[in-house]
Formats: sequence, C-alpha cells, structure tokens
Amino acid sequence: MTQIELSEGARRWQRVAREYADDYLLPHEVEAELNDGQLPAALTARNKARAIELGFPRIDVPRDSGGLGLSMEEQAAIWEQLGRITNALSWCFSEPQSWMFEACNADQIERYVLPLMRGERKDCYAITEAGPGSDVASIEATAVPEGDGYRLNGEKWYVTSGNLADFFWFQAKLADEDDEALFLVDRDTPGIEVIANPRFSHTYAAHHPTFAFRDVYVPAAQRVGNPGDGMAYTHSWFRHERLMIGARSCGAAARLIEEALEFVRTREVDGTPLAEKQAIQFMLADSVTELYTARLATYDAARALDRGEDLKVQHSRCSMVKLYVSEMANRVADRAVQIFGGRGYMRENVAERFFRELRVDRIWEGTSEIQRLIIARCLLKRGLEAM
Ligand SMILES: Cc1cc2nc3c(=O)[nH]c(=O)nc-3n(C[C@H](O)[C@H](O)[C@H](O)COP(=O)(O)OP(=O)(O)OC[C@H]3O[C@@H](n4cnc5c(N)ncnc54)[C@H](O)[C@@H]3O)c2cc1C
Repeated sequence: MTQIELSEGARRWQRVAREYADDYLLPHEVEAELNDGQLPAALTARNKARAIELGFPRIDVPRDSGGLGLSMEEQAAIWEQLGRITNALSWCFSEPQSWMFEACNADQIERYVLPLMRGERKDCYAITEAGPGSDVASIEATAVPEGDGYRLNGEKWYVTSGNLADFFWFQAKLADEDDEALFLVDRDTPGIEVIANPRFSHTYAAHHPTFAFRDVYVPAAQRVGNPGDGMAYTHSWFRHERLMIGARSCGAAARLIEEALEFVRTREVDGTPLAEKQAIQFMLADSVTELYTARLATYDAARALDRGEDLKVQHSRCSMVKLYVSEMANRVADRAVQIFGGRGYMRENVAERFFRELRVDRIWEGTSEIQRLIIARCLLKRGLEAM
C-alpha cells in the first residue's frame, strides 16, 4: 500500500479489515473461482458470521439505529482492504446505507433495513432496463395507483444478487405524478419472474438475472420516501457505491502490485530476476504512481463527504473517483497479467481473475462515459473553483 495519511480510526479499521480479508477470504479465492464462485455453505456462513461480529454490516448505519456511524474515510479504509479479494467473497454480508434511514419510514426500517444489518435478509437493486440503459432518468417501468397500493410493471436487467436476495429496491415511473419512486418489493410477491440468467466475465456466487415484473401488486406502504423524492435516494446509492468502487479498486491494485513484486523478485529469465529488467520496473513504477494518486483522490473525496460539502459537487467528485480509480485498476491488472506472462493467464492467478473482474467497474454504477458527463456538467455549470 502506498503511504498516505489516514485518521487513527481509519487506520484501526484498515487493520481489522485487512486481517479479515487475509485470514477468512483470500485463502478461498481459487476454490471459489474453480467452483462457479461458490464456497461450501459452512464457509460462507462462517465468513458472514465473522463479518457481522466485526461490525461490517453496521458501518454506515447511524448510531441511534444501532449502527457504528463510521465516517466515509473509515468506510473507505474497510472497503479498500476488502477490495483486495477476488470472486466477490466479501459480499457475504449485507450493508444497509445511511440514506435508507432517511428514506424509509419506521415500519420499513424495522421490516427491511434492520434485518439487512443483522444478516437476516438480503436486498438487490432493480433500476437498469434494456431500453434506457445508461439513461436512468428515462426508465419505463411503471407504478400505477390501484386501491390502497400500486400495480408495478417492467423488466429489470442485471439485478446483482437477484438469485440470493429476498427483496428488491425497485425504481419505477409513477403513472399519476410526473416523477419516479422507489419501492420495496418482496421477492415472493406474485408476478415476479426470472426471464434470463446470463453468465458474465467474473465468477461470482451472486448472479445478475433479468426479472419481469408483471402486474405486481404492492401496498402503498411499500413506497419509499415522499412525493417529489424521485431519484434522490438512487443518487445517494450511486454516490456511496461510486466512492466505494474507488476504494475497492485501490485495494485491488495494491494486491496486484504486491503479488507482482513477489513474483519479479523470484522469477529468473535469462539468468537474472525479472525485477532487474527495466521494462518490468517501468510497469511497476507506473502502477504504484497511479495507485498513489488514486488513493489520494479516494480519501480526499471521502473526507469531503464527511465534511458535508455541497452535494452536487460531491456527486461529481465521487464520479471523478470512480472514473479515475476504476480505469487505473484496469491498467494495473493489465500490466500485472503481462508481468506474470503465461502464468498471468491462468485462472488460479490473481492477476487473471482481477483482469476480468475489474472490467465491470468501468460499466456498472454508471459507465466511465456517464461519469465524464456528470463531471463535465458540474465543471461547466459551477466552474473549476467548485471542483
Ligand atoms: C455485472 C453487472 C451487474 C450490474 N448490476 C446492476 C444492479 O444490481 N442493478 C441495476 O440496476 N443495474 C445493474 N447493472 C447495470 C449497469 O449499471 C449498466 O449496465 C450500466 O449503467 C450501463 O447501461 P447499459 O448496459 O444499458 O449500457 P448502454 O446505456 O447501452 O451503453 C452502451 C455504451 O454507450 C455509452 N453511452 C451511453 N449513453 C451515453 C451518452 N449519453 N454519452 C456517451 N456515451 C454513452 C456507454 O458508456 C456504453 O459505452 C449491472 C451491470 C453489469 C454488467
């Protein structure tokens, strides 16, 4: 890891998460890779229990709701360490986010959000649709008022953890208001069907199925937030996730550099260790330089969120972090594969796995192009001073 200054709390959480990642998750990556992303149920249960014991599901939960209310800097320190692990083995616990406690009423918090924190329920996020894609504001799923509730219709693509979750955060257009709204929808509500379960480049236990919602009836009590909230909470989710993609990508890049370093010190070609060859040194130098820059940006953005700076500016800063750091990690993974040579193309090798896994960080939670649009709009509207 490159050395940058972190608060004492962030350093403490960094150590906790590093130990957890190294002891509980890292030894099982290859086993998961070669077994369709699955670990034996007992191992997954053990990893989840330990994560709950350490408090990971409570890190973004406000203290008055039984959480730890950690700063974003501390949370980034945790996710950076968990990002060192492949095959999404760190997704063994659910992590309710602070905005859920603003958005949801007391009953929704009791039935959905707190059970997430206790590891009793699992959620998934259903926003993306085949037609609008990146243009999230144009989603076509509808919520039509009916009696004391809503009738939901739509098709949602790429619903991560849709095979494991027992409820959805479902975004739809309201038929009677010029607005969107978020709904909590139980998985077993009649009218919900998996219509495809495509395979993706990574090997994860969590799949990304396509769901059809056909005349799904939910009581009005399942609507999240108030009229006029629109996409506000989905934007809160995006900011949080984009920053944490930055943190995880830093962790992934650090792991790749560490593993490559170990390799070049021992692997001899032509009678000399790879470490002595300038072409190899340059790849390592570029990687560590970019990682240093990426970590500075990630933690600076986290601290700005902690200071509660202007939300619109924070939004674009989280986009900058996501854009730069995810692309940086992809470059580092590409170099790491090259440094390992043929070994770097084997699925048992961490560089090969990250080479595939990190690619989606340039796509989900808004593609790199969409992040650029957000950043450019903020720059044009507010000027360089604000950025
Ligand atoms: C593995 C995986 C898991 C996912 N998990 C979830 C999930 O849990 N929940 C969920 O709701 N979604 C999820 N997504 C969806 C993801 O957020 C979208 O794939 C992403 O936002 C891009 O949308 P799209 O795939 O429709 O691409 P498109 O919108 O079709 O974009 C295609 C290309 O055009 C570019 N493009 C689009 N618009 C513009 C523009 N205005 N200017 C310039 N270029 C543009 C894009 O950057 C991209 O390069 C997941 C996706 C994947 C691959």
